[in-house]
Amino acid sequence: MDRIDAIVVGAGAVGLAVARALARAGREVIVAEAQTAIGQGVSSRNSEVIHAGLYYAPGSLKARLCVRGKQLLYALCDSHGVAHRNCGKLVVATSDAETAALCGLQDRAVANGVPVQWLSGAEASALEPGLHCSAALLSPTTGIVDSHGLMLALQGDLENAGGAVAQGSAVEGAVLGQASAPHVVRMADGSELAAGIVVNSASLHACALARRFEGLDARFIPQEYFAKGSYYALAGRAPFSRLIYPAPADAWLGVHLTLDLGGQAKFGPDLEWLDTTDPARIDYAVDPARADGFYAEVRRYWPDLPDGALVPSYSGVRPKIYGPGEAAPDFRIDGPALHGVPGLVNLFGIESPGLTSALAIAEEVVAQLEPH
Ligand SMILES: Cc1cc2nc3c(=O)[nH]c(=O)nc-3n(C[C@H](O)[C@H](O)[C@H](O)COP(=O)(O)OP(=O)(O)OC[C@H]3O[C@@H](n4cnc5c(N)ncnc54)[C@H](O)[C@@H]3O)c2cc1C
Repeated sequence: MDRIDAIVVGAGAVGLAVARALARAGREVIVAEAQTAIGQGVSSRNSEVIHAGLYYAPGSLKARLCVRGKQLLYALCDSHGVAHRNCGKLVVATSDAETAALCGLQDRAVANGVPVQWLSGAEASALEPGLHCSAALLSPTTGIVDSHGLMLALQGDLENAGGAVAQGSAVEGAVLGQASAPHVVRMADGSELAAGIVVNSASLHACALARRFEGLDARFIPQEYFAKGSYYALAGRAPFSRLIYPAPADAWLGVHLTLDLGGQAKFGPDLEWLDTTDPARIDYAVDPARADGFYAEVRRYWPDLPDGALVPSYSGVRPKIYGPGEAAPDFRIDGPALHGVPGLVNLFGIESPGLTSALAIAEEVVAQLEPH
């Protein structure tokens, strides 16, 4: 049986970032990817926003890794010529309750070390004519990125460091080695590969895959839930040059406007809990009727939204580890210190801001695998 230092399961933004970091730390690394190309999973179905780190509980992995990941991501985009734009974002309040929520968000941003600037409604409208609000929080470090360009850059660095992506290579399961014995990874084609390090970065498949790891106690595997988000493109020119988000009312960020690098504006994603946990059964079709509820929400901050301007675009599905009505937990980067299996890291619940955080998640994984 062939043996390698490390296998990373999944060639999304996170898996590629982890593999790159392991290769740069001197390990011989293979990324096993079930699809015939990189980045066909959650990493190709998201908002492509470089999040500033406003929303997450101070001290959480999401807060820390988003802020660190954002810095690393901007630096990588600059050094590797990955298309991106530091366009900034406005979080807007249109009622007293939302102004109070905005104050809370400002405090949180400060606690997370994220720069923000409080604007009056008039100041916000001066920046973005057409915007209607009573107050706004400007986040100057928010941006947008070409996620495929990013993943190609990560793959390039991985290969330059001696690593490789094995496309069309689905991992079926693993028999985890005890003590210093290597893990034996079983591929879907029946072949086996031995590795000292296994990183499960399979996203929507991560919990199901972990259940096929013999030697991992089931109590270390959370229940997965899927929540779909649909996007609606705005026909015509983008009305704003920054991203516009309503003040957060609950765990969901509300109907917000994001931009892509071509200048197209889109609204979404909304939140629709799915009744399946089987990725093969996900229907990514966008229901035009779901946009009906968007118009009233958007007109609270952009009264000029024309009737019929929202066109069904694409959807993505969040790899959640909590169900409807439950509080959102932190990212889970479960290493040997938690589950006791040397050389194994499971990544669970890497939903937003996972794209922004990818490079910092990679640092965290490498740190957890260092001998203590
Ligand atoms: C609607 C939506 C909007 C979002 N917006 C943002 C945003 O604006 N900014 C942000 O920072 N984050 C955002 N996110 C989160 C971000 O997209 C994800 O956190 C990130 O892309 C996850 O990357 P990943 O590598 O973990 O997963 P994926 O990209 O899904 O990669 C997992 C890979 O594993 C492969 N795989 C699975 N099982 C196996 C197996 N058994 N063997 C081999 N390969 C396997 C899959 O084929 C896939 O390629 C959003 C997410 C969603 C759903």
